[in-house]
Amino acid sequence: MYKSIATVSLSGTMSEKLDAISAAGFDGVEIFEDDFLAFDGTPEELGNIVRDFGMDISLFQPFRDFEGMPEPHRTRAFDRAERKFDVMKELGTDLILICSNLSEVSVGGIDRAADDLRELGDRAAARGLRIGYEALAWGRHINDYRDSWEIVRRADHPNVGIILDSFHILSRRLDVAPIRAIPADRIFFVQLADAPMIDMDLLYWSRHFRNMPGEGDMPLTDFMRAVVATGYDGPVSLEIFNDQFRGGFAKAIAVDGCRALVNLMDEVDKTEPGSNIALSSMPPKAVMHGVEFVEFAASDEGEADLADLFQTLGFSPAGKHIAKDVTVWRQGGINLVINKEKQSFAHSSYVLRGTSVCDIGMMVDDADAAIARATALDVQSFKQETGPGELKIPAIRGVGGSVLHFLDQKTNLHDVWDIEFNALADEDANRHAGLLKIDHLAQTMGNDQMASWALFYASIFETDRAAMFDVIDPGGLVRSQAIEGRNGDVRITMNGVESGKTLAGQFAEESAGSAVQHVAFLSADIFATAQRLRKNGFQTLEVSRNYYDDLEARFGLEADLSDRLRDSNLLYDRDKDGGEYFQLYSRTFGSGFFFEVVERRGGYGGYGAMNAKIRIAAQKRLLPKKHHYS
Ligand code: MG
Ligand code: MG
Repeated sequence: MYKSIATVSLSGTMSEKLDAISAAGFDGVEIFEDDFLAFDGTPEELGNIVRDFGMDISLFQPFRDFEGMPEPHRTRAFDRAERKFDVMKELGTDLILICSNLSEVSVGGIDRAADDLRELGDRAAARGLRIGYEALAWGRHINDYRDSWEIVRRADHPNVGIILDSFHILSRRLDVAPIRAIPADRIFFVQLADAPMIDMDLLYWSRHFRNMPGEGDMPLTDFMRAVVATGYDGPVSLEIFNDQFRGGFAKAIAVDGCRALVNLMDEVDKTEPGSNIALSSMPPKAVMHGVEFVEFAASDEGEADLADLFQTLGFSPAGKHIAKDVTVWRQGGINLVINKEKQSFAHSSYVLRGTSVCDIGMMVDDADAAIARATALDVQSFKQETGPGELKIPAIRGVGGSVLHFLDQKTNLHDVWDIEFNALADEDANRHAGLLKIDHLAQTMGNDQMASWALFYASIFETDRAAMFDVIDPGGLVRSQAIEGRNGDVRITMNGVESGKTLAGQFAEESAGSAVQHVAFLSADIFATAQRLRKNGFQTLEVSRNYYDDLEARFGLEADLSDRLRDSNLLYDRDKDGGEYFQLYSRTFGSGFFFEVVERRGGYGGYGAMNAKIRIAAQKRLLPKKHHYS
């Protein structure tokens, strides 16, 4: 696959952009005229810089308001085109993008437009150049690729082809099946952008909200399947206008772009075999079978606090590492690890972030295949010295610098607790509170990082993505999105924060990007769990009394149930099918980390989003004064 990206997709100076693009592994760039105009050098110099980075200029764009013009505008449009051809010769690119006319002066007419393109095709051919015609979704006369194709077909010129841009097609919800009938040699270029499906003015939507394939809601796989069905083997190029990308780090965005392209084409290869731009052997997506462990980095003092909390939650110390200052605590299928080892990633994470989650162990179907998949997607692998008798557990870097380990049942990796740990007798069995497994992990990140995290998970793992929802924190808005493994064994909620005034935002600031803000455990009987926790001396987050009055009214709850909820400080939600959700929270510790206990009944699949504001208000009441924002 020839991977390309438009320079407008990234922030920075031209050389910063090109550096990021080539480092991420792209083969070519689309040069936008605006970017070129801002560049302090000749077109020839720019072309040389691109080639010095080992890439080509795959396209120059845009050329506007060309076809269907009456005189004298028509003659002027041809003159303008000749000047663009001069620039292209100097840049060293042979393809220009002509987008469909927006001008009020233009008169329309398929044959008139075809005549114009044919004549321009002759002029381009004389100079060894090609022209590609793209239907803008908001073009005055031509705004549907089926019409731009008809124009290109009637132009019937070897130097005139069609450019297909997924955004302009999918934003108008056009049928992509007719793409399959376009001969491959008539398709000169393919541009890709995804976008969230929002009802918005097309131009504004396009200029500000495009995102990487897989980050939005558009059926890009269907679009690309139709393209590869033609036999097309040309460039696949990202043309992404996005305010956050233009304000973000070029390097990270370029890597995401490459990851998104590879992930998309992998999807296409699987569903539309025989593609001419197939990827070379891409390992399949990993299937997640549960969170095997959550590891905390701590000091002696932090360990004492954590141990207290674990104990009141009903966990027992279950094993000591054979060589390291690492302890595993267990209850049901939940393993919580405390790592105090000085020479370790955990320690550097502790120095940076204090007591916090530094590592997650994910049980997958095949750990080695998962690593191979991640590596093929340009995710950094993570290696740490292992001592004698220790397993080499494959690991990668998460987006925020955290670490994700992979374990499986195929090899002896799942025996890590027996192999690397000396078992401790469970003297606290009567404290167990019926916690069975990890229900979900909640990660917090800057709003602008959220799409990148979602892409990270969705490209490595088999996942479903739940809809976005907003949580109202008294200090601002928190956007949430859940990623769920296909079999429902693993759930991760991501909270994107804008403001340091929100609780999640404060957490993100104080924990220097440590992402896991809470861990939720599943109970089969949360009332029994709550009772046990109380005996254990667990400090439940107290919920305001008013909440229960409102709850009674909202769901028509029996007074008895509402009393029981109130007694145990449980939060409650019910979905439209009668599925029920019960939650209780710990108080926060460290820079705002907390635990949650949940029970799901009747197939409830959510996270009690509407209760988040109650939880946040209760947590804020307990914060030391200096934390009382807004
Ligand atoms: Mg385009
Ligand atoms: Mg939760």
